[in-house]
Amino acid sequence: MKKVINLRLLSYSVIAYMMLAFAWWSVLLFVKNRDAYMAKRDKDRILLVAQGVVTSDAEYFQTEEYKRLTKDYKRQEWMILGESIVFVISLVIGIWLINRGYNKAVNAARQQRNFLLSITHELKSPIASIRLVLETILKRDLTKAQTEKLNISALKELERLNGLVNDLLLSAKLETAYQLHLEPFDLGLLFREIIEKLESKYPKVKFSFFPSEQNIEINGDKSALTSVLINLLENAVKYSDDDPEVDLKLEKGVDKVYFSVYDKGIGISDKEKKVVFNKFYRVGNEDTRKTKGTGLGLYIVNQIVKAHKGTIEVVDNNPKGTVFKIKLPLNPDEELNGLSSKQMTNLTA
Ligand code: ATP
Ligand code: MG
Repeated sequence: MKKVINLRLLSYSVIAYMMLAFAWWSVLLFVKNRDAYMAKRDKDRILLVAQGVVTSDAEYFQTEEYKRLTKDYKRQEWMILGESIVFVISLVIGIWLINRGYNKAVNAARQQRNFLLSITHELKSPIASIRLVLETILKRDLTKAQTEKLNISALKELERLNGLVNDLLLSAKLETAYQLHLEPFDLGLLFREIIEKLESKYPKVKFSFFPSEQNIEINGDKSALTSVLINLLENAVKYSDDDPEVDLKLEKGVDKVYFSVYDKGIGISDKEKKVVFNKFYRVGNEDTRKTKGTGLGLYIVNQIVKAHKGTIEVVDNNPKGTVFKIKLPLNPDEELNGLSSKQMTNLTA
């Protein structure tokens, strides 16, 4: 961080020096131009007086030579001014572009570091737990109940590992050749099943589901949309304090379906709202963060929603927490049909 600040200070100093030097050269150019004009004017005047063409200064100021000279001088002054403005604008644009690229590079490096730290941790911790369980079963003489308990915990860790590998694979696929597998199904029913699963996984969480009607048939990629909802609901649980309350609303419009996940958790600041969908982005840093994760979840969610030609937005819940709002077409097929196969694979770009 210190290195970054020092580099910034150095580049701002160089820019400030360039600006000052440029201002100085511009002023110098103006002065030299004026001096040259006055010297030429005096020379012409003396010459014309010596030749007897004019008899006084007032007469000289009426001559064509003087008028042409002054016109040239004024034009040169405007030229210097115009070029100075163009130079300053180009410099400012150049600095802005370099600064933007630099910030992007710094952010990418930070995200990469965060990702490497979190992925290493996320991969290592279930492997270590499973290893411990297996070693305990091997070394100790355990009762059937004890072995069963250990097996259950090892299976949970395996499930975590599997989820992580699936997320990594899915995000890689979403960037290259992801094709939606559209099929008609009841979204309300799918959501109810997901909620039931999560209720048994998180017994302390109070999930509430509010569908606007009984059957909401859509044409969508069932497993991708399952992933969307699980990611959003698990985030709502993960980023809430004890005994979280999570609401899910589902509403059918004319040709769209709307669903929103409400939590009363820690919330997301306005600045972070703009970046939480970035790949590997996690709020805070690896040293202070308490929750586990890789920052892939919302990236996957956003890509899947985009692939369905839908939209996602994140807003504050009232009085606290976060709301993720999603809008999907009831039949993305109609919108997708007009696209070429190349566009299909690039949908997620
Ligand atoms: P995983 O890949 O395991 O889902 P993750 O939960 O950290 O990891 P995302 O789901 O992409 O990654 O979320 C990105 C970040 O956005 C999270 O690290 C968290 O800081 C913030 N975030 C996401 N959902 C919420 C929420 N409901 N409330 C508060 N913060 C949230
Ligand atoms: Mg998540």
